[in-house]
Amino acid sequence: MRKLIMGIVDFHERLRPQYAERFRELALSQSPDTLFITCSDSRVVPNLMASSHPGDLFTMRNVGNLVPPATGEGISIGDVSEASAIEYALLALNVENIVVCGHSECGAMKAVLAHKLPLNASNLGKWLEHANAAAFRLEQEGALDASLEPHDQLSQLNVLVQTEHLMSYPIVRDRVAAGKLHLSAWWFDIASSDIYVYERESRSFQVIDRERADRLLARLVTR
Ligand SMILES: [Zn+2]
Repeated sequence: MRKLIMGIVDFHERLRPQYAERFRELALSQSPDTLFITCSDSRVVPNLMASSHPGDLFTMRNVGNLVPPATGEGISIGDVSEASAIEYALLALNVENIVVCGHSECGAMKAVLAHKLPLNASNLGKWLEHANAAAFRLEQEGALDASLEPHDQLSQLNVLVQTEHLMSYPIVRDRVAAGKLHLSAWWFDIASSDIYVYERESRSFQVIDRERADRLLARLVTR
C-alpha cells in the first residue's frame, strides 16, 4: 500500500503534466475501440503490455478472465457484472473488438485443475465453475501445446472457451455475423512477457511479433 500511495504522489508531481491535456479531452466522454477481458492477476498489466493510454481500452477483469455464458434470451447464467460490461461496451461505446486474454501461471487455472481452493472460498468455487468447460475440453481433446505445464494448457483452452461464451450473447453473435465486431483470444506468458494470439488455421497460439501484427491489422474491423 505504501508503494501505491507514493505512486499517486509521483503521478501527481511528475507524470500528470504529460497527461493533462489527454485527461481534459477525456473528461466528458470516452471512445475506446476495444473491450479487453483479462484476469485480476497483478502480473497482467494490459496498459503496459499494449502500450495503451488513458481512453484506449475498456477493461473487464476478474479471477480467471471468465465470461459466464448467456441463456437464449441473452441473460447471463452467472454474475451479471460481466454481461453488463459486454452490453455497455457494445451498446454504449460501440467497440469493434473484444479481446479475451489469459496468462501463464494463473492461480485460478491451477485451482480448477487441482479441484482445490482455500478454506471458505465458496464464492470463488462457484465462480470457477465457469472454467469447467475448459477443463472438460482439456481432458477430452488434449492440449493445444503439450509442452506447456497442465495449468497453462488449461489456461489457453480457457481463453477459447470464454470467447465461445461471449458468442452465446445475441448482441455479440449478431455483430460478429455482421462483420462489425471481431473477437480475439490472447495469452500472456509472464516469464517471457510475450503475448500470443490464437490462430484458427494452425489451432495454436502464436507470438505477436511485427509480422503477425501486420496480419492481424489487415483483418481488423475498421471504424
Ligand atoms: Zn489469472
